Amino acid sequence: MLEVRDLQVHFGVINAIKGISFDVPAGEIVTLIGANGAGKTTTLRTLSGIKKPTAGTVTLDGLDITGLSAQDRVRRGMSHVPEGRRIFPDMTVMENLELGAFLRRDVVQSDLDEIFTRFPILAERRRQLAGTLSGGEQQMLAMGRALMAKPKMLLLDEPSMGLAPLLVQEIFDIIISINQAGTTVLLVEQNANIALQIAHHAYVMETGSIVLSGEAKALAQTDEVKRAYLGG
Ligand code: ATP
Repeated sequence: MLEVRDLQVHFGVINAIKGISFDVPAGEIVTLIGANGAGKTTTLRTLSGIKKPTAGTVTLDGLDITGLSAQDRVRRGMSHVPEGRRIFPDMTVMENLELGAFLRRDVVQSDLDEIFTRFPILAERRRQLAGTLSGGEQQMLAMGRALMAKPKMLLLDEPSMGLAPLLVQEIFDIIISINQAGTTVLLVEQNANIALQIAHHAYVMETGSIVLSGEAKALAQTDEVKRAYLGG
């Protein structure tokens, strides 16, 4: 579904992404793991059209989207759940969700119902200001907002960040169920342990390059990954 080839990103003279290539097959969960500063967030921001690459191509469903705006990528089925959630704190839960559908002209009530079924806590809090939600609830809201665009593919940036272990498990169970309902997922995580448990394929990034890749469960068994990312 998504093909990234020889992607390079610079910040001024700094080469943050040094020519990476990877694939996200339709229907899969693919994870990009790596330490702080490896370039995972920059990669996602480039895929969703927020940051412009200096070289390389991004192809979505056979179409070269490298030059498309962020909006056009959303229209073509790619939604981004950013690092730190970035919900609108002074708007209600409902308003945040409605904003997720701002590019759509069709009726969204049934989609809202679907989101509320998936995240019952958001239904309970629909009239509450989003800034008053807990971290886990804000993560659910950010995911719900992205789902309101009816994406074929979800880009998730560190959904586990700052959450207690039980909530992390809950969020990851939801990611699995979203994937099983047909949405392809590209997951960026520092929590390699849980990411490798749920992903089909994984790529390991170090200082702007992909250094290892493979089937996620096989990768989790390698000494390199165990030592560097799984604390063992
Ligand atoms: P984290 O998990 O902390 O988000 P990451 O793997 O996502 O880490 P990035 O945030 O993508 O890493 O950063 C990759 C590199 O690009 C780092 O060296 C970082 O300092 C640099 N970088 C990121 N954003 C900018 C920016 N706006 N200006 C300059 N350098 C940046």
